Amino acid sequence: MASDRAQHVAAEVTRLANLPASLLTSAATREPVWLHVGTLLDGTSTAPARDAHIVYDSIAIRFVGRDGRTPPRELLRPNQAAPDFVAPDHTLLPGLIEAHAHLFLEGGELNLDRRAAYLKQTPAELLAAARARLEKIVRLGVIAVRDAGDKDGVGLALSKQYKDQRCLKVGQVSDLPLGESETRPASDRSPAPLMAYLDSPGAAIHHRGRYGSFMGEPLENFPTPHACVAARVAAGADRIKLIPTGIINFKAGAVTTEPQMGTAEVAALVTAAKSFGRQTFAHASGDRGIEHVVEGGADSVEHGFFIRDDQLARLRDRQIAWVPTFAPVQEQVDHAALMGWDAAIVAHLQRILDQHAASLVRAHALGVPIIAGSDAGSVGVAHAIGLLDELALMERAGLPPLAVINAATGVSAGRLGYREKFGRLAPGCLSRFILTRHSPLATVANLRLPRTIVFDGQVFETDATADVTGL
Ligand SMILES: [Zn+2]
Repeated sequence: MASDRAQHVAAEVTRLANLPASLLTSAATREPVWLHVGTLLDGTSTAPARDAHIVYDSIAIRFVGRDGRTPPRELLRPNQAAPDFVAPDHTLLPGLIEAHAHLFLEGGELNLDRRAAYLKQTPAELLAAARARLEKIVRLGVIAVRDAGDKDGVGLALSKQYKDQRCLKVGQVSDLPLGESETRPASDRSPAPLMAYLDSPGAAIHHRGRYGSFMGEPLENFPTPHACVAARVAAGADRIKLIPTGIINFKAGAVTTEPQMGTAEVAALVTAAKSFGRQTFAHASGDRGIEHVVEGGADSVEHGFFIRDDQLARLRDRQIAWVPTFAPVQEQVDHAALMGWDAAIVAHLQRILDQHAASLVRAHALGVPIIAGSDAGSVGVAHAIGLLDELALMERAGLPPLAVINAATGVSAGRLGYREKFGRLAPGCLSRFILTRHSPLATVANLRLPRTIVFDGQVFETDATADVTGL
């Protein structure tokens, strides 16, 4: 095993021309690594930190110092007097969190026949493809995913795999900082199989005969809303996904179906979820259905096309999160000919996107918790790549780059109740971050340029040659 690890580290060293080998040691040895960077984005602050020092090991961040404040000696290696890596022209930021994705779908596939054929695979085949995605997205800088539901148990199986792996690797990982709970000697540890964090609602909850059958199971299969939620929890759901509305009718440029669920029904499902300690997230487009979700007390509005300003104000008042998911609608515009949309329909789509952008800017000004999610898996929205596109669309809508980055890191982590600590650069958070010389404060599109990903002590240099097949 030791020689395997040596080979692994050697392979990484050859790929890393501009980083010192000391950055690579932590995965194997849990040695602390000390970085000194010009700019640090902690995931929540509304201003960047300058001249920052950070100490981390393969488990967690141990120290963050701003304005030149250096770490205490006891956090460093014996006799270490200087940082391992000094990068005044680099920015360090948390790894990105995708708050709305369907891992069981291959988003990058645009051909509708091939998409249909793909879905005819067995659950085991769908699971294997999704598992591969969870590795590839880490190398692109996406370190965590809130899965938004599937009916074949793919998300639940991945969530269980992740939990099992984390327990094997370090014991009670959620009770950081560690040190005490790790019982196996360092020589027994090799880098765990690479896998982004994932949690899942299992099958989304919808009404029989209404939108959502491809990712949900109908409420009608259970005697009560509480029984439905209880069954999801028993199956391993980390949270509860509701589908209270239909989707946008692109030809009409509006949501043309009645909401599936009323306020009382949403409230009953939310109450049941809370009784099990679970958050709810609700697919909702069209202001009538959004009203039911807001008044029903869900934790987040997903998509939220056609949201009204008075509804945004209530999101702010109640700190209900909004995940606007521009990417799937933008894909319909970008591939209009392939989708069969004529100029009139494209004009509808563009008007909807413009209206959505204006709502996003108002939501930001109001103080709504805005969270980034791309709806990856939707037609044309590839996993990880789609999230980077979503961030660029949020910036294009008028959000400052730092607000966009916070939406994909600390705001997401702060509102959505993930099981582990990530999304912020702070002591006790997992060592999962992005180091880049291309400042994302100039534009978040720079996050597509060559960058270094640190994930639990493993280090990856990512550029345009990264493997994105099957995403
Ligand atoms: Zn979705």
